Amino acid sequence: MKILVCVKQVPDTNEVKIDPVKGTLIRDGVPSILNPDDANALEEALKIKDKKPGTTVSVITMGPPQADDMLRECLAMGADEAYLLSDRAFGGADTCATSTTIAAGIQKIGDYDLIFAGRQAIDGDTAQVGPQVAWRLGIPVVTYVQDVKLCEEKVIVQRQMENGYEILEVQMPCLLTAVKELNEPRYMSIGGIMDAYAKKVTVWNHEDVVLDPKDCGLNASPTQVFRSFTPAPKGKGEMLNGTVTEMTELLTEKLKEKHYL
Ligand SMILES: Cc1cc2nc3c(=O)[nH]c(=O)nc-3n(C[C@H](O)[C@H](O)[C@H](O)COP(=O)(O)OP(=O)(O)OC[C@H]3O[C@@H](n4cnc5c(N)ncnc54)[C@H](O)[C@@H]3O)c2cc1C
Repeated sequence: MKILVCVKQVPDTNEVKIDPVKGTLIRDGVPSILNPDDANALEEALKIKDKKPGTTVSVITMGPPQADDMLRECLAMGADEAYLLSDRAFGGADTCATSTTIAAGIQKIGDYDLIFAGRQAIDGDTAQVGPQVAWRLGIPVVTYVQDVKLCEEKVIVQRQMENGYEILEVQMPCLLTAVKELNEPRYMSIGGIMDAYAKKVTVWNHEDVVLDPKDCGLNASPTQVFRSFTPAPKGKGEMLNGTVTEMTELLTEKLKEKHYL
């Protein structure tokens, strides 16, 4: 069985701070990490590999050359192969162009039974890339996956909903997007770290994945960020005074005013 996992290197948004004077984001010294949902996606692929001999797990990313570090981390966790789609022509991509490039990379790899992605990346936060890649490949997709069971040519998955979950049976090949409830990602092993640096990361540019520069990156992005800004900090909280009944009534009124009730 051949499993592909889409992984993205992201800034650790827990470490991003706001400059109290300028009100801008401080990005200096912010470490880059494997996107958390993608670690769950990779873990699920590795769990299948642990149970099913002969399974190979490949990770694929589109990003700058520095994404090599994250791919080595994935190899050290247990992935067999890593692919980096890196080219200036891919820069400035919105989700539409990102999924075009990832799908082109997957088509070049060719042979796959199952593709995992994270539900969402913590920097772009759109949750669009997984479904778009599946659509471009013409395969079924299930998002918000919190449990996976293999059943011959099919997978039976639990899809997380607001108040429970639904169980779906999907024909392979298909793409599943993982949520954090799916599993607990494993740590890299010492042996894995040593092996990861001996393994080759395959780097492909636009010619390798047969994409014209006009069909990728900024040139193929129907959306462009017009302006970005740091949201103003929330004002001070308001203290309510009076008896418990008075305060409850006042609070209820305020919540109604804001249409929360
Ligand atoms: C309007 C707009 C304009 C943008 N312009 C720029 C720009 O000019 N420059 C720029 O650098 N970025 C830009 N971005 C960000 C860029 O589109 C996103 O980083 C990228 O498309 C992924 O989207 P996301 O982070 O929302 O991922 P999501 O859709 O939230 O990610 C879901 C999952 O898809 C997979 N995935 C996502 N991205 C990748 C990837 N690169 N490689 C492998 N797997 C992946 C992962 O498994 C991830 O968990 C723009 C985004 C938008 C919305």
